[in-house]
Amino acid sequence: MSSPEDLSKTYDYAEVERRWLDQWRDEDFYFDWESAEPRYVIDTPPPYPTGRLHIGHALNWVYMDIVARYKRMRGFNVMFPQGWDCHGLPTEVKVEEIHGITKNDVPREEFRQMCRDLTRENIEMMRHSLRLMGFSVDWSNEYITMDESYFGLTQASFLRMLKDGYIYQSEHPVNFCTRCETAIAFAEVAYTENTTLLNYFDFDGVEIATTRPELLAACVAVAVHPEDSRYDGLKGKTLTVPIFSHPVPVIEDEAVDPAFGSGAVMICTFGDKQDVIWWKSHNLDLRSAIDQKGVMTALCGRYAGMKAKECREAILSDMKGSGILKRQEELPQRVGTCWRCQTPIEILSARQWFVKVKPDEIISTAKAINWYPEHMLTRLLNWTHQMEWDWCISRQRLFATPIPVWFCEGCGEMILPDPEDLPIDPTVDSPKQPCPKCGSTSFTGETDVLDTWMDSSISPLAIAKWDGKTTPAVYPTQLRPQGHDIIRTWAFYTILRSVALTGEKPWEGIMVNGMVLGEDGFKMSKSRNNVITPDELIDRYGVDALRQWAAVGAAMGSDITFSWNDVVAASRFQTKMWNIVRFSLLQIRKDAPTSAESPAELADRWLLSRLSATVEEVTDALDAYQYDRGLKAIRDFAWSSLADNYLELVKGRLYSDLPSRAGAVFTLKTALDTLCRLLAPYTPFFASECFHHLAGGRIIDQEWPHLDYTDAGAEENGDLLVSVVSELRKYKHEAGLALNAPLGHVTIYTPGISIDDGGDAGRCTNADIEWKPEEPHLDRVLSDITFNMGIIGPTFRKEANAVMQAIRALPPDALEAGVDSVMVNGSEITVPEGAYTPVFSYAIEGEEVDLLTVGIALLAIRTHA
Ligand SMILES: [Zn+2]
Ligand SMILES: [Zn+2]
Repeated sequence: MSSPEDLSKTYDYAEVERRWLDQWRDEDFYFDWESAEPRYVIDTPPPYPTGRLHIGHALNWVYMDIVARYKRMRGFNVMFPQGWDCHGLPTEVKVEEIHGITKNDVPREEFRQMCRDLTRENIEMMRHSLRLMGFSVDWSNEYITMDESYFGLTQASFLRMLKDGYIYQSEHPVNFCTRCETAIAFAEVAYTENTTLLNYFDFDGVEIATTRPELLAACVAVAVHPEDSRYDGLKGKTLTVPIFSHPVPVIEDEAVDPAFGSGAVMICTFGDKQDVIWWKSHNLDLRSAIDQKGVMTALCGRYAGMKAKECREAILSDMKGSGILKRQEELPQRVGTCWRCQTPIEILSARQWFVKVKPDEIISTAKAINWYPEHMLTRLLNWTHQMEWDWCISRQRLFATPIPVWFCEGCGEMILPDPEDLPIDPTVDSPKQPCPKCGSTSFTGETDVLDTWMDSSISPLAIAKWDGKTTPAVYPTQLRPQGHDIIRTWAFYTILRSVALTGEKPWEGIMVNGMVLGEDGFKMSKSRNNVITPDELIDRYGVDALRQWAAVGAAMGSDITFSWNDVVAASRFQTKMWNIVRFSLLQIRKDAPTSAESPAELADRWLLSRLSATVEEVTDALDAYQYDRGLKAIRDFAWSSLADNYLELVKGRLYSDLPSRAGAVFTLKTALDTLCRLLAPYTPFFASECFHHLAGGRIIDQEWPHLDYTDAGAEENGDLLVSVVSELRKYKHEAGLALNAPLGHVTIYTPGISIDDGGDAGRCTNADIEWKPEEPHLDRVLSDITFNMGIIGPTFRKEANAVMQAIRALPPDALEAGVDSVMVNGSEITVPEGAYTPVFSYAIEGEEVDLLTVGIALLAIRTHA
């Protein structure tokens, strides 16, 4: 270890962090599959390989790294794996951009190879960043979802759920992005607000209001509310659709809102989710007016081939021309759009693959998991309760896990691969046997691929080395850390899949973090110019400052607004701690006592008791994933108890050659050793450096501290001692005395409590201090009388002096009680109220003292002694 022997004056984070990165080996953080120690497996989020780590990733990884380092110190066998969630549209789009092609310009396999190549490059860049930040990732447990070993498991899980009846294919309306040309799940629909036109038109004699006139060709019924008297007699009739002239029935349904538009609505397949519900419950026809590219179908006659928007304009114009368009109104609306490209989604009916959603199963499992913070469970429950459709898992894209299924060209039979042969690509590979039904050897491979969440939702199984069949030995995992933005996707799907595949919950606990907002309180974005990158922060203040910012910036689960002030405060804390360590080491190294002992002095016992309480607080906080609470407790102890109070109290002892000096050295060593351990999960570089100077060795090999110095009496008396010293210092300051100037004699009365501070208070205030566990014996003496000349002068004029003299001559008790009159030259003179004020002071054995009250203590100060 090439650590400088003496601590440099300032803490050079860049040099220290670089040096310690070299000291940590990958093997230091490997999970031990053979270990008998309790395990702590973290089902870490596999990031999408964009090539760059953003500040949100940094926050996530800091949260995970803190718990990983903490649990290792607690003796757990920790797995902190690193996954990469590769598949998906963004990479396809990027590849199209880079190569100036669309996915259909090159053969399917060539396009997929381009996606894999780009993903590998991006993963390499992100790995590099994670390593530079010193995260204690277990690189022996890395997974890449596009690798055969992983997507083979995804396929195995698909086949398993297909066999168990969880997966089925069906012609069913799904959310569809016509730009991306793929189905998407409900969880991928984003919503935006805008204003549209509500068009009132004459529908064969009935007024109808619609926002989607382009769907007129897809109209399959007109619906009214059963109690809407305006439409009595219309039920059961048939109407003719304007322009397209096909007949549609009039139906009644409770869900029609009589107050919307004219109270009569047209049902199209499909304008929205409500249309799907009506279509199902009334067993209506299916008329598809829009295809998967967003183009009007042949059903639309002369509008066929138009884009939906063009068709809307054309139909409205034709309605105007024929005089059936009555009026138009502006209407605010909430539009579902594609999460990826913001194109408004269409609901199209197509053959798709679905996973059955069984809400009861998901809800009972979610409730068996510990949620940190607890209220995040409600979000999952709300989402589960509102699920109306099953999860659509098929996508019409290329860079994804292929659905491992063939169809027999002879008889249509679905052919599945042998699990041993996985992974397969049914568009490339063929079944090994002829069709068992008809003997045909011609097959069509499924071209649809799987939703990316089908890959990532088996992450806890994958890291546990699942074989695709039996529940792994290291299951469930202990923790799922993730953001609250993906509760309805990643958390929801993982729970669903885990129950389906193992009958068990995937994790014992889930820790849900918030999002990082820019300094202006808004989501970080290039257009707002409020983006902070981890690199920028680390360059200026180092990794440990970033880690402290992440830990204290917000309570777990709350969004965290980025603040340079928090980063600066973090850096200042390191400077302060560094100064404490430097000062202390000088003292400790001075003829250090050989035997460790239990310190006897009050200040030592006080600090150690507080230290024990701090260890307990930090332990509790980390067990509850309340990182901010833990770090605040450490900072508070180090800054206030140790630096501001204890060190000031014992400086004199440390500079002396008293036998009790050893107690202070022992206490300091214990405090610093413990602080290094407590800080190790938060600021591993800084803690490593300090610990190395203090004790030698690596902090990552040390155990979490267990202290038993709790001493309620010492805490109470020590608190008093600390307050007494602070009040005496204030007293000196106000008296204009230098801090090291002699103060005189101070008697401290603490009735019924005997305090022995071993001389610390006296040494640090340069006073002669005597503690007395008794009631004070003070004499109250009249020391002066102040006269109010504003009253005395005008009232007594020439006799003023005589009056004042007469007042002075009165006995102290009379003066205190107040007098109405005095005798002057034989005549009684009235003394107005407020003419004088007696001034009393206190004395001990005739010597005058100043008094200070500090808690239960009374301090009598004889400065003149
Ligand atoms: Zn899209
Ligand atoms: Zn067949």
